[in-house]
Amino acid sequence: MNNRITTLFQIKYPIIQAGMVWCSGWRLASAVSNAGGLGIIGAGSMYPEVLRLHIQKCQAATDLPFAVNVPLLYPNIEEIMQIIVEEGVKIVFTSAGNPATWTGLLKENGITVVHVIANTKFATKAEACGVDAIVAEGFEAGGHNGREETTTMCLIPMIADAVQIPVIAAGGIGSGSAMLAAFALGAEAVQIGSAFAVAEESSAHNNFKSGIIAANEGDTKLQMKKLVPVRLLKNTFADAVAVAEAEGANPEALKQLLGRARAKLGMFEGNMEEGELEIGQVSALLKEIKPAAKILKTIWQEFLTEKERLNRLEFPA
Ligand code: NDP
Ligand code: NDP
Repeated sequence: MNNRITTLFQIKYPIIQAGMVWCSGWRLASAVSNAGGLGIIGAGSMYPEVLRLHIQKCQAATDLPFAVNVPLLYPNIEEIMQIIVEEGVKIVFTSAGNPATWTGLLKENGITVVHVIANTKFATKAEACGVDAIVAEGFEAGGHNGREETTTMCLIPMIADAVQIPVIAAGGIGSGSAMLAAFALGAEAVQIGSAFAVAEESSAHNNFKSGIIAANEGDTKLQMKKLVPVRLLKNTFADAVAVAEAEGANPEALKQLLGRARAKLGMFEGNMEEGELEIGQVSALLKEIKPAAKILKTIWQEFLTEKERLNRLEFPA
């Protein structure tokens, strides 16, 4: 199968592994790229020199294309962008910030740029800034998310209508059938986070991976909308946030409660009660820890099987 996304990234399958803080280092990114998808190093949890190391290790581990995700609200962005250019990264996904700031410089350096959005306004703005494709991320997604709570089912057709450039669907996609649904809505690829967070090659702590596998329906919630909306797995910290929010906590109070380095504490160091555990709704559907290549191939095979099944459905004329 070839479409605008497989051509743009020079990949075999239109399956992209999301850049995820504390989960997607070079091991996960190179494993996904070697399996024929697009692996992404998540720069959000990396000091600049750590990112450089991960880019170099990824280049050594795969000859195939991979990308770096840069959440623009994180610190040291100038240094991060300089390293990306110096190390010859070919594809960058930007998120959580204004695409007008960095797209020009990246494009001048021959880098393909994709921006992540959660509404039509930012999609058209990103297109006007010259990005090559858009990730449209719905309400179901883990971690940082849009304020409007637009679900993937509603968001994808709106964005596909609003822009000319290809749309990559994200949020709630962890299976081939969900991927097929995203294609039916107008997407040309999917970006998958949670299902790859539990890959063997993910750098997340095993406690976090086990917690994701054990998660049930209703166990994640979008919180801290007054600060930066983020979908979290329920635990002691998330309960404390819920109580504070019910009592009308302002952004400053939420910031105080969050403190420092809670995402690392939970996702990388495995503190399942006090850590900030960023994961999507689809965690309720994930049942085992597997190698990234197996996750990707299972999704692709199911996509093809489900497509065939739908082709065979017969309806009265
Ligand atoms: P390795 O695990 O092979 O480690 C590479 C180097 O990083 C080694 O010199 C090792 O030091 C050091 N290192 C590894 N883990 C830690 C740690 N928890 N704290 C301090 N130093 C560490 O390589 P990776 O490529 O997996 O990791 C490289 C760096 O990236 C590490 O600092 C790691 O913590 C970080 N990382 C960050 C991720 C993120 O999402 N931000 C994801 C994965 C890794 P020594 O030889 O002394 O053990
Ligand atoms: P914090 O700001 O609480 O702490 C920084 C964490 O990122 C630490 O674990 C630190 O590692 C690591 N880190 C990696 N690169 C850098 C860097 N260049 N400078 C400083 N620290 C770095 O981090 P969060 O992960 O919670 O948030 C990251 C960004 O997102 C911050 O800018 C924060 O203000 C913003 N934000 C996050 C929210 C959330 O829900 N997490 C909500 C609102 C804003 P180490 O511990 O090894 O030093």
